[in-house]
Amino acid sequence: PEPLLEVSHLKKYFPVKSGLLQRTTGQIKAVDDISITIQPGETFGLVGESGSGKSTVGRTIIRLTDKTDGEIKFKGTNLYDLHDHELRKLRPKMQMIFQDPYSSLNPRIRVGDAIGEALLDHSLVPKDEIRDRVIEVLGSCGLSSYHIDRYPHEFSGGQRQRIGIARALILNPDLIIADEPVSALDVSIQAQIINLFRKLQETAGLTYLFISHDLSVVEHLCSRVGVMYLGSMVEMATRDEMFLRPLHPYTKALLSAVPVPIPRLKRERIILKGDIPSPANPPSGCKFHTRCPFAMAKCKERTPEFRDVGGGHFVACHLEV
Ligand code: SF4
Ligand code: MG
Repeated sequence: PEPLLEVSHLKKYFPVKSGLLQRTTGQIKAVDDISITIQPGETFGLVGESGSGKSTVGRTIIRLTDKTDGEIKFKGTNLYDLHDHELRKLRPKMQMIFQDPYSSLNPRIRVGDAIGEALLDHSLVPKDEIRDRVIEVLGSCGLSSYHIDRYPHEFSGGQRQRIGIARALILNPDLIIADEPVSALDVSIQAQIINLFRKLQETAGLTYLFISHDLSVVEHLCSRVGVMYLGSMVEMATRDEMFLRPLHPYTKALLSAVPVPIPRLKRERIILKGDIPSPANPPSGCKFHTRCPFAMAKCKERTPEFRDVGGGHFVACHLEV
């Protein structure tokens, strides 16, 4: 089938300005040549520490920010070739969900209105049908008509994320880009929201790009996973491959920090040295060499290519596999 989303060689650079006159003195390669293909119905997990560029990937896809280079195709259409009115027509089909839905909800607008507003903006249904549609979508997100006249502050964190999801869902999207949607929630609530995402995938035929720093969240939801470090993809594989046979030392380190329920699978703990370096001044060669416990002399000089090791598994590392 035709991919729903095809991101090819995406780059997003930000200028670094300094001094009194704010001269451009360099650039931050927040996203540096990332390619991701997502099939309809798939859930792709994009993982990395904060500062890895994963949120920028999401924002660039949805054109909240413009790309520097590369290509983004949605259902075969090149998004950056579209005129504003064409993009506007396509917008409902790609929705973004954020970590903190409260910040995007107006405290003075009743929740039902906030959810219905989007429908009105895109004139997707006649005005007199909006109320029914809002109730229906609240219902599929585990809320009810009782909540329609309430204000955002009357809801808990988990309920607010359900409202955020309802607001995206009401536009009948094909792709949802969720950026750390459960990171601010308690673990027990996280599980409920993850289950909601999973249920909606079946009932509403959704495809997800799920962005998270938390591998255990991704493990429960995603069919494929990509790991980013300092703007680059360092490993990509199916969920099972990634969790059973991680190849990149960075992925191994992230995984070794995730508690495993089965002691037999217990992984050797890999502690990384230091913090993620500044993306304004990334290390030479393999950008991970300053923190890698397996770094060799050549790692400092040569950038490892992102190579195919078979079975849909890709890795960027000089180590033999
Ligand atoms: Fe570590 Fe070298 Fe592999 Fe980079 S290329 S991850 S420094 S072993
Ligand atoms: Mg982020």
